[in-house]
Amino acid sequence: MALKKVCVVGGGLGGMSCALDLASKGYSVTLLEKGRVLGGKASNVNVGDFSFDPGPSILILKTIYEKQFKDAGFILDDYITFTELDPIFRIHTYEKYYDFPAGLEKNLQFIRQSFPEDYNAYKKIMESCESAYKATLETVFKHDIKSVLSMANKNFLRASSLVGPYDSIVERVFKNPILKAFFYDFPGYGGKKFTQPSPEAFMIPYIMVKYGVFYPKGGVSKIIEAYEAVLKLLGVEIRTGTELLAIEKEGKKIKKVVTNKGDFYADYFVSNIDYATLQTKYLKHINNSPSKNLIKTPSHSYFSLQIGVSEKPKILLHHNLLLNTEYREQYSQVHLKRQIPKNPTVYINAPEDRQNLFFVVSSPAIENGIDWKNFETKMKPYVFDLIKQYDIKINPDSIKAIRKQTPLYFDNEHNNYLGGLFGATDDKILFNLFNPITVDKRIKNLYYAGATVQPGAGLPMAALSGRFAAKNILSSN
Ligand SMILES: Cc1cc2nc3c(=O)[nH]c(=O)nc-3n(C[C@H](O)[C@H](O)[C@H](O)COP(=O)(O)OP(=O)(O)OC[C@H]3O[C@@H](n4cnc5c(N)ncnc54)[C@H](O)[C@@H]3O)c2cc1C
Repeated sequence: MALKKVCVVGGGLGGMSCALDLASKGYSVTLLEKGRVLGGKASNVNVGDFSFDPGPSILILKTIYEKQFKDAGFILDDYITFTELDPIFRIHTYEKYYDFPAGLEKNLQFIRQSFPEDYNAYKKIMESCESAYKATLETVFKHDIKSVLSMANKNFLRASSLVGPYDSIVERVFKNPILKAFFYDFPGYGGKKFTQPSPEAFMIPYIMVKYGVFYPKGGVSKIIEAYEAVLKLLGVEIRTGTELLAIEKEGKKIKKVVTNKGDFYADYFVSNIDYATLQTKYLKHINNSPSKNLIKTPSHSYFSLQIGVSEKPKILLHHNLLLNTEYREQYSQVHLKRQIPKNPTVYINAPEDRQNLFFVVSSPAIENGIDWKNFETKMKPYVFDLIKQYDIKINPDSIKAIRKQTPLYFDNEHNNYLGGLFGATDDKILFNLFNPITVDKRIKNLYYAGATVQPGAGLPMAALSGRFAAKNILSSN
C-alpha cells in the first residue's frame, strides 16, 4: 500500500510535533517552513557574537515532550541536558526581592514566612489546582474539547473555587498586593484578560512549583534542535525558505498548496500557521464566511528587548518578575483600554550560561493607532526607566548587541494575526473551550496545529496540539 502523504505548513513546534507523530507511524511527511530555520518563536537568533532565545525562556511540563519522544522510540535526555531552576523566580519589588522556591512544601513554607496573611488562601488555591490538574490530564491535555460534556470530570468539580472572573477571585482570596500582582500576570500567558474566567491561569504557578521549571543547557532552542534531529532520523522532508502563497481546493478537499518553491500535493494538509491568519489570508476565497470563532479584535501580544552585555547585573537570576502594586491599572491598560502600559510588570530573563538579558512586557497588538515603529525607537529608555525603580542598573558601555520585537515583528515574521500571539481574540471562555479544534469542519483533509488552536499557547500546548492533529489524521483512516 502506498504511504499516505502529509504536508505540514509551518515549522514551529506545533508543526514539528505533528510531523513527528505521523512520521513515526510511517506516513510520508513534508514540512514547509518560510523561515531560514525551524522553530518559529522558539528558534535561536544570533546577533553579533550573541545567541538569543527570542521567545520562550523556560520549559515546563517536560513530561509532555518526554512522552512524545518515547512514543516515537527516542529518549529526550539523549538530546538535551536539562537544568532545573530553584528558585523558580526572583520576584523584585521596589523595596526588596523574594526568591520563589521550587517544590510544593518549600514553596508553602516560603508563602507562610513572606505573606503569612495569605498562607491559607494560597494553600487552598494550590489544593484546587491539584484537582484541576488531574482533570486536565484526562481531558484538555488528551484530545480536542468539542463540547462541555467532554470536560465532564469529577476533579473539575473539586476545583470549582477556581471558576469565576479571575480578578474577582484574586481580589477576594488574597490580601497582599504583591501576591495579587503576581497572580494577575498569569491569565495573559494563555491569551486571557484578567477579568475573564481563567482557572488555568492559577494552574501555571502550581505546575511550575510542583513539576519544575527547566532550562536546557545551551538555550531553549535546544528543544527545537532535538525535534529536528528526530524528524530527520524519521525521514521527514524538511523544506525551509518555503512560503505558502495559496491553497487550491477540489471538491471538499485541498488539492495542493502553492509556495514560492513550487506546488505540493498530499493526502492530508496540516497548518501550523496562526489560525486567524490562515482563515483571513489563505482560505478567504474558500470559506466565504469567516469562522464563527473569528472576530476582529486581535488577542494581546508582547514587546521585548534583548541585549547582549559584557556584565550582567548580579541582582538578576534566570527568571525575574518585577512587580508593583499598580497591577490592576496596568492590566486594564493592556487588556481593556488596549494601550501601551505605563508602569507594567516586567519579565527579565538572564540565563546563567549566557551574557544575554531579555526584557518582556505584555502589550496590545496592532490596533488602536499605536505607532509601534515609533515606540521601537523609545523601547530601550522605556525599559531602562522601569527597571531603575527596582535598583537594576545596566552600564550602557557594557551593551554589545541589541534586538527588539513588537507586534509588528510577530505579524511580519511569524504571520500572527495583527501581531496578537493568541489567535484572533482573547474573548475565550473556560479552558480555551472555544479555541478552534485541530480538525477543519468544512475541508475534509485540513488539520491545525499550534498555539492558536486547542489546547492553547505555550510550547507544551503547541506540542500537544500537533499530537491532537496527528491523532485525528490517524483515526480518519
Ligand atoms: C516573548 C515570548 C515569550 C514566551 N515565553 C514562553 C516560555 O517561556 N515558555 C513557553 O512554553 N512558551 C513561551 N512562549 C510561547 C511559545 O513561544 C509559543 O506558544 C510557541 O512557540 C508557538 O508555537 P507554534 O508552533 O504554535 O507557532 P510558531 O512558533 O509561530 O510557528 C509557526 C511557524 O509557521 C511559519 N509560517 C507562518 N506563515 C507561513 C507560511 N505562509 N508558509 C510557511 N510557513 C509559515 C512561521 O514562520 C513559524 O515558523 C513565549 C512566546 C513569546 C513571543
